[in-house]
Amino acid sequence: SVPLTFFAGIGGASRIGVLVKGGNYMDVLAKVSTMVFDKTGTLTRGLFVVEDVHSEKYSFGDLLHLVAHVEQYSNHPIASALRNVKRDWHDDCRVENVHEIAGNGVEGYVNGRKVSVGNEKMMKSLGITISECPRCRGFIGTVVHVAVDGVYAGHIVIADQIKDDAPKTIRDLKALGVDKTVMLTGDREVIAADTARKIGIDEYHSELLPADKVRYVEELLKTKTKGRTLAFVGDGINDAPVLARADIGIAMGGVGSDAAIEAADVVIMNDRPLKIVRAIKIARRTIRIAR
Ligand code: ADP
Ligand code: MG
Repeated sequence: SVPLTFFAGIGGASRIGVLVKGGNYMDVLAKVSTMVFDKTGTLTRGLFVVEDVHSEKYSFGDLLHLVAHVEQYSNHPIASALRNVKRDWHDDCRVENVHEIAGNGVEGYVNGRKVSVGNEKMMKSLGITISECPRCRGFIGTVVHVAVDGVYAGHIVIADQIKDDAPKTIRDLKALGVDKTVMLTGDREVIAADTARKIGIDEYHSELLPADKVRYVEELLKTKTKGRTLAFVGDGINDAPVLARADIGIAMGGVGSDAAIEAADVVIMNDRPLKIVRAIKIARRTIRIAR
């Protein structure tokens, strides 16, 4: 049974915009020693801005137009940025058979032409050669590649920003005795390394698929300090499975998908990672009172 004071803890958390879905999570939250984060939308804002468009065969407008049409069916933060660049939807485009390839991109037919939009990994798996991107090497920024009917068509460079409270979140978690912070991301190595360094996170792994994230969390669950817990924090886009696998799953409620909010045990309503620090403090106070 759950002590009554735990419900006071839930009330306290809700007043700072943290929704805790049950009294038993107070105990789990109080004992976190390993905190694992997703990157995009969790430690970064997930609000991408288009910085550059490059194509030898298409005009910028035409390339963005094709991309926006397939991205309108994706709920990935990258998709929101790319469909927003398309202003005039009053055209007679026929968009069919759009499907998302988790951790890679999205693909569909626009007026009968197959449009593939995604990262380098996705292009490789489709057997498409990236023929015109010298600046992709070592470049820090997200490069979204486009192919039409299996032929490389160009790329769009987009940039995200680190949430301003992310570095302080990591520092404060350390001060609270969280002994390991880890970032797991589907994004490229150079971006992951740059983000991890700027935020001050202990460990990171890049270019992961949703299943790889689950494997890392399972490994971390085995090596965590005895009697302590592991939390995963994500926006739920491609990480609902890992949210469920952690001792406690924390989701960003603003940018987060409905599936994530459903799968999570704790929801941060305004997407501020620093709220996790306050929630742990509330949980520990609640546990002390209950004893
Ligand atoms: P993260 O783990 O950082 O949240 P994801 O696993 O959600 O990243 O996505 C990994 C990568 O897959 C992205 O960095 C991007 O390159 C590519 N990707 C995923 N979804 C899309 C999409 N809808 N459009 C274009 N690229 C995408
Ligand atoms: Mg994500």
